[in-house]
Amino acid sequence: MHVREAQAMMRRIYYHKDSKRGAEGTWRWLLEEVEELGEAIRSGDERAIRDEFADVLAWLASLANVVGVDLEEAFSSKYPGHCPKCGRSVCMCPT
Ligand SMILES: [Zn+2]
Repeated sequence: MHVREAQAMMRRIYYHKDSKRGAEGTWRWLLEEVEELGEAIRSGDERAIRDEFADVLAWLASLANVVGVDLEEAFSSKYPGHCPKCGRSVCMCPT
């Protein structure tokens, strides 16, 4: 599944709810899922980590739908196969 397909699936399933909740409320859900991802990583529970990654991507797609951003286009234009800062395919930016 491509990012655009995932975002379209989230729009089909949840947009009627996401649009009523609005950008602020949906962004807060995304933050909560990011927090849960951190907790899962700290716990070391591999199943929970996978589930939370899925939830973060789902809520990111929902938020993008609410604010009208095409995630695949945004990502591929900012990260077109190389580091946006140093321009190399393997980042050589100083850490
Ligand atoms: Zn770089």
